[in-house]
Amino acid sequence: MKLVDLHTHTQASDGTNAPGALVRLAQECGLAAVAVTDHDTVSGLAEAQAAGKECGIDVVRGCELSTSTDMGEMHILGLWLPEDVSLLQGKLEYLRRKRGERNIRIVEKLQGLGIDISIEEVLDEARGESVGRPHIAAVLIRKGVVKDIGAAFKEYLGYYGKAYLPKEVLEPEEAVRLLCELGATVSWAHPMLSKTSDEWRENFLRRLVDNGLSAIEAYHSEHSDADVRVCIDMARRYGLALSGGSDYHGTNKPKIRLGVGYGGLRVPYAVYEALQTQRARRGLPV
Ligand code: AMP
Ligand code: ZN
Ligand code: FE
Ligand code: FE
Repeated sequence: MKLVDLHTHTQASDGTNAPGALVRLAQECGLAAVAVTDHDTVSGLAEAQAAGKECGIDVVRGCELSTSTDMGEMHILGLWLPEDVSLLQGKLEYLRRKRGERNIRIVEKLQGLGIDISIEEVLDEARGESVGRPHIAAVLIRKGVVKDIGAAFKEYLGYYGKAYLPKEVLEPEEAVRLLCELGATVSWAHPMLSKTSDEWRENFLRRLVDNGLSAIEAYHSEHSDADVRVCIDMARRYGLALSGGSDYHGTNKPKIRLGVGYGGLRVPYAVYEALQTQRARRGLPV
């Protein structure tokens, strides 16, 4: 069966593969298409596309935006971003600037806990322009403060961690509308990741749909079969397409492998074709 992976991260944000290397890996894994969806940046896309042309697999230009809700962050994927993202660029720059300010304050909290760490070390760890907690975690691991990234989030960087700080993000409506205006396919990323009530999920979905949502990421490494069924049902009821991907982050999420997630993920080529058909019907380029 031909497979695709429509949710991946590179060194442009908090993945560990260079964009070109990720695309070559996707080709080696036998995937027919891969979407590069870095957090708050499109800076990896040109390299990824060039690699796609070279090794003969489809590369979908994407990004992932965080949004705030009363149930915590919800993530929105933009797929098939145009070459010209100037409409979005100012917002991405703003989000990255806020990331920068937050990183400094997290480092200060860590210093306050007696940990020897500097913002320069964190920035050194990053290979791209969208820097965040996984880069801070990498410094903590390198210095032997924690044994792995899981411990870094548990003890310091995660919601219940000693140095946690929230990140400034967009309102869901704004994120969906921005991506929509660009002509992107807008998908609600991993809707089942945080355990919300059915009623909450339904209300949130309606907010997204009202602002132009086109798809739901039904297939995701962290989704159970039951989660997938809930997503398919939501998509059916609102006339949305499905999307799917591993959320691959390289060695920052070592158990998640490109294309197959923890091993059981399969995103059929038909999912990719249905997204393309939906775009064609709307007169949008693929
Ligand atoms: P940030 O964008 O700085 O808020 O960091 C969020 C990113 O950290 C997510 O996109 C994940 O890639 C990563 N992350 C969150 N929790 C964990 C965890 N427990 N272990 C490893 N990575 C995590
Ligand atoms: Zn990430
Ligand atoms: Fe996400
Ligand atoms: Fe992601």
